[in-house]
Amino acid sequence: NVKDTPLCSVIVPAFNEDEVIYETYKRLKTVLDGISAPYEILFVNDGSKDNTGAILSHICDNDKNIKLIEFSRNFGHQIAITAGMDYAKGDCIVVIDADLQDPPELIPQMIDEWKKGYDVVYGRRAERKGETFFKKATASLFYRFLKSMTEFDIPVDAGDFRLIDKKVCDAMKKIKERNRYVRGIISWLGFKQTAIYYTREKRLAGTTKY
Ligand code: UDP
Ligand code: MG
Repeated sequence: NVKDTPLCSVIVPAFNEDEVIYETYKRLKTVLDGISAPYEILFVNDGSKDNTGAILSHICDNDKNIKLIEFSRNFGHQIAITAGMDYAKGDCIVVIDADLQDPPELIPQMIDEWKKGYDVVYGRRAERKGETFFKKATASLFYRFLKSMTEFDIPVDAGDFRLIDKKVCDAMKKIKERNRYVRGIISWLGFKQTAIYYTREKRLAGTTKY
């Protein structure tokens, strides 16, 4: 059974994250070294203008579990995730932000849910820390408005922090939509989905790119 010793891929889109990216790498490495299964981390440098690229290529040279996808310019968060999915080799694939707002320590719990038979395990934000009233209010309105417009179930208050099975990733790759909203497409695809709740932390450093 592939779920006994799965390969786990972790995709980390990063745009101008040089203040946090090394710490993110260390937190992820600590967690993933603990899951007693092989893993790869795919950083996607989305045309950063700061030192993100240099830091990532240094990490990549020194750790065989790390892969780096370099964009020629800034293409945006959703395209960065998509590129990660194109290269991920894992039996399960996790997408996580680079700024440590999504706790890497939740990944083992996501893998446990996947082993129970879920194909999509998304992180649902029970609480958002360090975000302005405006950001929280607009995000909340956005998710509820989106839900009211669509016939299928897009979970509210869930970002792109999630685990997907390889078969979901393969289905994603067949979607030719270019202007993509990845989490919407994942919901639209169907598959057996579940949520785990977490507190969305403050960014470790830097500012929101949205
Ligand atoms: N990001 C990216 N390309 C962009 C904008 C953002 O790859 O053009 C990455 C960013 O580095 C982070 C994630 O997408 O890892 C989410 O961005 P951010 O934290 O700015 O969004 P927020 O958490 O404020 O919604
Ligand atoms: Mg963030």
